[in-house]
Amino acid sequence: SITAVQDGNGQVSHYIGHFFDISHHKAREATLERLARHDPLTDLLNRRALDEELLRAQRRADAQERLLAVVMLDLDDFKPINDRYGHDQGDALLVLVAQRLRDHLRRSDAIARLGGDEFVLMLEGLRQLDELEPILDKLQRALCQPYRLRDGVEVHIGVSMGVSIYPFSAQGNLDELLREADQALFAAKQQKGQRLRPWSFWEPPQSAMRLYPLRERFRAQGAEAWFQPVWDQQSGRVVGIEALARLRGDDGTVLAPGEFLPQLQETDIFDLTNQILKQSLTALTALDDLDPELWVSVNLDPQLIGITCLKCVQQMLQGQRIAPQRIVFELLESGDFLDRRLAQDHLLDLKAIGVGLALDDIGSGYSSLLRLKELPIDKIKLDQSFVRGLEERPGDLHFVEALLELSSSLNVELVAEGVETAAIRDAVAVAGVRYLQGYAIARPMPLDALRTFLISGCEPLRQSGPRSLLGIYAEQMSEHAVLRKALRQSWTILDLPSLRDPQNCPTYRDICRLPDADAQRILAVYRDYHEAIAAFADTDARHWMQRVAELERQHRRLSDALLDAIRTASATSSQ
Ligand code: C2E
Ligand code: CA
Ligand code: CA
Repeated sequence: SITAVQDGNGQVSHYIGHFFDISHHKAREATLERLARHDPLTDLLNRRALDEELLRAQRRADAQERLLAVVMLDLDDFKPINDRYGHDQGDALLVLVAQRLRDHLRRSDAIARLGGDEFVLMLEGLRQLDELEPILDKLQRALCQPYRLRDGVEVHIGVSMGVSIYPFSAQGNLDELLREADQALFAAKQQKGQRLRPWSFWEPPQSAMRLYPLRERFRAQGAEAWFQPVWDQQSGRVVGIEALARLRGDDGTVLAPGEFLPQLQETDIFDLTNQILKQSLTALTALDDLDPELWVSVNLDPQLIGITCLKCVQQMLQGQRIAPQRIVFELLESGDFLDRRLAQDHLLDLKAIGVGLALDDIGSGYSSLLRLKELPIDKIKLDQSFVRGLEERPGDLHFVEALLELSSSLNVELVAEGVETAAIRDAVAVAGVRYLQGYAIARPMPLDALRTFLISGCEPLRQSGPRSLLGIYAEQMSEHAVLRKALRQSWTILDLPSLRDPQNCPTYRDICRLPDADAQRILAVYRDYHEAIAAFADTDARHWMQRVAELERQHRRLSDALLDAIRTASATSSQ
């Protein structure tokens, strides 16, 4: 501190400075702080500090969507060394072990000693489990080198490690995470004689496994990829396939994901994705002679995107002839995942490899629609539950048209899923959706069946023009939209007199192909509609609005007649 000294006239004549050396004080504070958070012997973190660090690491893992591994490590032959050479030498050994741990881990990895010969390591920022094993392997080799203690004593030790992974196990509770690592350590110690590696991962107890028989089955035998064709309406052929996971039951039954996915844990889903991806690449190779451009889409749980696949995808693609552009990952919007900035980074990482991205089940929620512009997406897939319902709710075709417009303005492809019947197929194709997937094309099937289908099964699918009421409804809907726009903006391009004759319209011919009873009734209304169009030919500006109103009225009549017929047809077919 500095004080000013004034003379008799109030002028400052001197300054007096006081200096206190507080470095000693600060050093003491730092020492106390260290003691509170550190193990005095090894200077590693103590239990209390570990708890704090774990909490912070868990938050970082959540924010960065990375894995956090908690490794409980314990020396195999510490007690005999302590007994034989005394506690001082034992302590010296622990100090050396701590030093080697520090030398072989990153500065950002927290290391703690809980007491005795028990250490806890916290390894952060793992993108996938595969990254962990080389680290543990390196640690093990380093720790098993001989230790030179005082008086020329040289000792060897082994280590055991138990690993739990956040967020795979222990949803949220840190004590639980430590407890699981401890249980895994116990297991590793028990298997000491016959184990291949000195660590084991935490596994749910057998009793929990028995509650999930399909989890056990999946772990024992893995999943099988079946494939469902995606039809290109424009070229009239199958251009892609979607890989869908199947699990074989005891008796050879085939289980769909709805049955077994809920029993799987995140690690299993991770394995599942790898298996399906691998089989998808095999399938493309096997079908190369039929179509070297066929693409395959693989479903990816967005929760896994950060830790998955990047590396495995790259590895799998290496040494394959399959271009990454032929792989598409389908992402299901789950929770707020796609809203997060990091998700975008992951998507960009994936795109950088060259693979395509599709957003699955569009139409089941709408938030992602708003985000579409910002996401690096190549395709959107219309939700199947929505497409399947078109016969009951033909009015939803308006939504299909809106999505089509959106997708073309964003320059992404639109695939309609759940194209279950010929009528739906008609309708979405007529509405302008180019890519179709669903039972009306083909059901999911194993690879050999797919091969047969690609060679000989596609022929009946090559038809032109709608053949169903729903298809005609879609057709007149989009034609009316075009007409309405032309009348508003540039009606002179319309050849109005020729439109008076409905026979000049393709829709007329399509209606004629319907079963007789339907055809006659609808044709009558259709002719009136055309009269209303032709009336524009000799109208003047004064009557224009009147004509527009009449046209809209006739169009409503036509729509209603078609909707009526659709309802009657679906009522009779469901009886
Ligand atoms: P998804 O990705 O929407 O897959 C389409 C589902 O619709 C498939 O069911 C398919 O068999 C079914 N489907 C296709 N066309 C029609 C149709 O015309 N009518 C009807 N009613 N259904 C049709 P699946 O194979 O049971 O798969 C269900 C869901 O399980 C998939 O929905 C996907 O979200 C998930 N899934 C499938 N395989 C995998 C996988 O390998 N990994 C992950 N994470 N999820 C998968
Ligand atoms: Ca899908
Ligand atoms: Ca879907």
